[in-house]
Amino acid sequence: MQAIRLKQGRERSVQRRHPWIYSGAVEEVIGYPGLGETVDVLDQAGTWLARAAYSPNSNIRARIWTWNPEEAVDDQFFERKIKAAILSRISLAEDTDTNAYREIHAESDGIPGVVLDRYNEQRVVQLLTAGAEAWRESIISVLAQLGDCDGIYERSNVDVRKMEGLPPKTGCLWGKEPDAEMIIQQHGMRFYVNVLQGQKTGFYLDQRENRRRVRSLVRGRAVLDCFSYTGGFTVAALAGGATHVEAIDSSTEALMLAKKNVAINELALDQCEWIQGDVFTELRKLRDRDKRFDAVVLDPPRFAPTASQAQKAARGYKDINLLAFKLLRPGGLLFTFSCSGGVGFPLFEKIVAGAALDAGVEVRIIGWFNQPSDHPVGIQFPEGRYLKGLTCLVG
Ligand code: SAH
Repeated sequence: MQAIRLKQGRERSVQRRHPWIYSGAVEEVIGYPGLGETVDVLDQAGTWLARAAYSPNSNIRARIWTWNPEEAVDDQFFERKIKAAILSRISLAEDTDTNAYREIHAESDGIPGVVLDRYNEQRVVQLLTAGAEAWRESIISVLAQLGDCDGIYERSNVDVRKMEGLPPKTGCLWGKEPDAEMIIQQHGMRFYVNVLQGQKTGFYLDQRENRRRVRSLVRGRAVLDCFSYTGGFTVAALAGGATHVEAIDSSTEALMLAKKNVAINELALDQCEWIQGDVFTELRKLRDRDKRFDAVVLDPPRFAPTASQAQKAARGYKDINLLAFKLLRPGGLLFTFSCSGGVGFPLFEKIVAGAALDAGVEVRIIGWFNQPSDHPVGIQFPEGRYLKGLTCLVG
């Protein structure tokens, strides 16, 4: 038998169906489980609790596959879980305006470490943990058998794999090689996506609903889109009737694609300005030039992956939000986001409130942003909730 026996009291989170077991909770490892192998999880007295993937290099020492003693972790297990997750996105698949969305969202779909994104006829998979890697062949074989796409491409070149003791992996796993630039559609807006080299699996799919919301609020406004990447919010703003958009991003490639994205939506490139640079610096330059906007989008990268980095992250958030408030005309809107798992909604609101105070502006919150339904949050797994945002109206 391969098993991990937990310390007294540490069985409680497992009984509450939380899928993670931290290294500090483990009293004893029984047998010699290898990277990603299935272990039984026992309480201190030896009673069976769950079946999990063992991850000897990670601080999250095991991730639970099942709490059901009758349920084996085998090929059929992955077939059931994968099909159930994909099927639960049916309502999105039938939205003819949208053909790019997340089909498997790891823990929150009961398959820790597995992410699957759909870009029209192309699927992109990430295997992020030792457990997911150990079941690679089963997972890929289920996806291949589905057959309802042109190809499956792997983008497991992410930092979290290092913590798991896994090398990066990329490449075509099934079907045809993806084109370097394919076109997807979300709520009628079209975007070029580079799944071979783009950030994440190519696009920030999680902002789909929020871009639509922003689109509905910016008619007649001059907009500043900070951390624009390939122009998700820039396109949304122009499509919603913004008079002018300035987009800032540090990535030249991202800005090049952003321009193409404005063009394929038949929106006016002469209403756009592109700034390649650091948002923290560029916001100060805009302030020093007394520039003013009617709306600002702040969609920074993850400053705090875990709660332990929250303090440092808070300084970063406060800085950019304060500067953004100063750039807004009265009646202006700030759309401000955080995708840091380590910064919860209450803390984020507090940070933005602090920024408003220091900027000397009166602000009302008129809307809250979340992650969309294809990025669900397992109800026993609050860590799955990471994306949050506010619409602030400046007085
Ligand atoms: N708003 C985008 C997603 C933003 S992702 C969308 O709707 O698709 C975060 C972006 O911030 C990335 O494109 C990254 O290149 C950029 N970035 C990270 N740090 C930056 C910095 N300090 N200054 C400017 N851009 C930065």
